Amino acid sequence: MRSKLAAVAVAAALAGGVVVASPVAATAGTAPSPVATAALTSAIPANLVPARPSPQEVRRALARIARDSDGRVRLGTIGRTNEGRPIRLATVGYGPTRLLYVTQQHGDEPLGTPAAIRALWTLGVPRTAWHRWLLSRVTIDVVVQANPDGAVRNQRYNHDPDASGPYTEPGVGYDMNRFHNPLTPVADNPVPESRAILRLWRATEPRIVVDYHMQGRYRQPDGRETTASILWPTSPLASSAAVTAGRRLAVRNYDAMTYVARANVTRYPGGDYEGIARNAYGILGSASLLVELSDLPEDRTEFQIRTAYVSMLATAQGAADRSIWRIDPARADAIPERGPAIPDAPAELARADAA
Ligand SMILES: [Zn+2]
Repeated sequence: MRSKLAAVAVAAALAGGVVVASPVAATAGTAPSPVATAALTSAIPANLVPARPSPQEVRRALARIARDSDGRVRLGTIGRTNEGRPIRLATVGYGPTRLLYVTQQHGDEPLGTPAAIRALWTLGVPRTAWHRWLLSRVTIDVVVQANPDGAVRNQRYNHDPDASGPYTEPGVGYDMNRFHNPLTPVADNPVPESRAILRLWRATEPRIVVDYHMQGRYRQPDGRETTASILWPTSPLASSAAVTAGRRLAVRNYDAMTYVARANVTRYPGGDYEGIARNAYGILGSASLLVELSDLPEDRTEFQIRTAYVSMLATAQGAADRSIWRIDPARADAIPERGPAIPDAPAELARADAA
């Protein structure tokens, strides 16, 4: 019930901002939390950020949020890419529970980035009792567009013409989401974007890490199209406590994405390799989650951004009120498996099963 109440609160928040009609809010028979209802009634500026922002557009949007939040959203840089672009960090909140969100490790999977920018606005700009409560409990670090060199090329890899070996496209770059291995000394890691995130983890030791990606298109057994898939750490090196925490976080996200964002959510069929962020930060002890937005047609772009945005708000609220840690982790087993790929999806969308 608590998670449902929290979901209603997020739905009420969304009703005033990124417009969504939530059947949960309409049918739950429970008044939304007055705190959260009051919290998020300001509309996000429509021109805040495009769906597929360039690094310059990310910079401008974050600068606007930092200004409009009177500095409650703080901006930083955690490193530089091989082409010298800043790897951008935005932080909101002052609370003891640290969260880390990462978007667009794969440059051609952009939609987590506008979702994060909207979430930063929603968390940072309005100032209500709910905001003061939330920001006193959590500190949220967001690595916004973690692979800007890949983003400007609309490519999966970072930019490194010297790249060779496993998990690279030789002559193009590294797959940075295979280079978070916590067993590798950071100084030996060849990927500056991954090094920066690993160092940020060491500096902040977040309780929660959520990593936003995009996948191809899949059909569920009931005929509906999957719009998002999620997965917790599956590496055998992750402790049972960390896996349990990740499974609770998955259920929290499943509920919010399903009942608030109206997403069709499945379990992502991911691998066990410890270099994958989902596994790496679980091995390090965080509650870790991968979120994959399906690469739906253009007219569903706003829906997909909203799904990630709801995930970010629901995770923040569940960490702040600690409801995530009261979830039955066994419920994660009920998240359905992803179905087969949709065969007539455009070829460039039928990407490999690789988060
Ligand atoms: Zn990806």
